[in-house]
Amino acid sequence: MTDKKEIERLAKQMRVQACLDCRKCEEVCPICRDNSEFSPQAFVKLALSPQPERLVSSGLLWACISCGLCRSACPDEQTDFPEFVRGVRETFVKTGQEPPFGHRGMVSAVGRLQASGDLSQKRLSWLTNATKTAESGDVLYFVGCLPYYDVIFSERIKKRLTQIALAGLRLLNSVGITPVVLPNEVCCGSDFYWMGDRQTAQSLFAKNAELIRRSGAKTVVVTCPECGSMLRMYPKLGYDHGCQVHYLADFLRKLIGPVRLAEKTALLSSCRLAPLLAEDLEGLLGSLFKGEVHSLADDLNKPVCCGTGGWLRSDALTRAMQDDLLVAAMNRGYTQLLTVCPKCRVHLGFAMRPEAWRRAELNVEDLTVFLSNNVEKASHGRVQA
Ligand code: SF4
Ligand code: SF4
Repeated sequence: MTDKKEIERLAKQMRVQACLDCRKCEEVCPICRDNSEFSPQAFVKLALSPQPERLVSSGLLWACISCGLCRSACPDEQTDFPEFVRGVRETFVKTGQEPPFGHRGMVSAVGRLQASGDLSQKRLSWLTNATKTAESGDVLYFVGCLPYYDVIFSERIKKRLTQIALAGLRLLNSVGITPVVLPNEVCCGSDFYWMGDRQTAQSLFAKNAELIRRSGAKTVVVTCPECGSMLRMYPKLGYDHGCQVHYLADFLRKLIGPVRLAEKTALLSSCRLAPLLAEDLEGLLGSLFKGEVHSLADDLNKPVCCGTGGWLRSDALTRAMQDDLLVAAMNRGYTQLLTVCPKCRVHLGFAMRPEAWRRAELNVEDLTVFLSNNVEKASHGRVQA
């Protein structure tokens, strides 16, 4: 039985009645642009109708990818459509609806395993003798699910995702930081949170918050903006870890560089990066690349999205979004595209697999890996945690 009262309460709290007379964000919403059935207006209308169950049969319940791009176009700062969608999903998940996680549910299965019981993981086999880590200390590197992505995706995209973690450690070590890396860290819970599976998300939040607190860290650095954004929300949701959370490249930007650029390069930002940055993206790119690299979205003058949000979708629609993005980058003359989010990297890897993508002129690389391979010198300064 759908909880209509709760949906009405959420609508008031997130001020989404405004969406009923407004279509301003449809221009920037990657799903609205490709799926004529979906819009915030259509979603709110159905959610507040006498039969909100039609959200399920129409497919609208799971259409939004929680990217938050609509917030940038919304005239009312208090309106929070993505949070409304999340809350509505929660009411349906409570009645037994299962989010249709992409990739045959493999990533969500791993997350649920990590959430249940006292699992002992072997998640540090990617570490090498050349990288230094600690069991306790001021700075903690939150690896996220990269070791599991290796198992699930690396064969198919011909790329090991733990390269990102190794690159992050190398950069931290190069400026004299030996970070804590937790042997039993679990999934940050972001995917479950945004899909409305609060029970799984809360179990993951509780485990990580306790492990981070016990490590004595004051700063958590991440190489995945989704992890970073979720970890920043932990205290507000009642799971205090006592740390500041930063995106690793931003945390180190005053200590690394200059960065060598041999190719015309753009950066594909991610939907959850901005709140993790000390200034803004242009500021970060200015520090790292002396203004030679710009955001692809700024260059194209429109928001771009890899379509991955929460591993919810991996289908013809998201593949078309990825293909459009790669073609747009190539049409602007870029030969290199840097990603900041491992999920974007995985999905662009799928889009560029040889049987689907025969134009090899574009190199796609994760920003942390690129920095680790190309930083000419690292200054051994002190980082203000
Ligand atoms: S989220 Fe904001 S911009 Fe989008 S339809 Fe609702 S009120 Fe309009
Ligand atoms: S969160 Fe993203 S997909 Fe969902 S309505 Fe907003 S812009 Fe569209």
